[in-house]
Amino acid sequence: MTDRQLEIDWTRCDGHGLCATLLPDDVTLDEWGFPILSGRRVTPGELTNARRAALACPALALRLHRT
Ligand code: SF4
Repeated sequence: MTDRQLEIDWTRCDGHGLCATLLPDDVTLDEWGFPILSGRRVTPGELTNARRAALACPALALRLHRT
């Protein structure tokens, strides 16, 4: 099975911070409200939540990519 990891398209991210609310174990926010990713791989059990968070990003900046 292919591993997945979260990534952010910085050309799109507006710092809404929703991703940190939806994925608190994987995303924290910097002092300006922009996301900091943990960098760890998304486990199979977390995949559904990670996909939902990516779809919920208002700027379509949060993505899951294969590693
Ligand atoms: S929800 Fe999307 S736009 Fe908002 S901080 Fe996260 S990646 Fe950026």
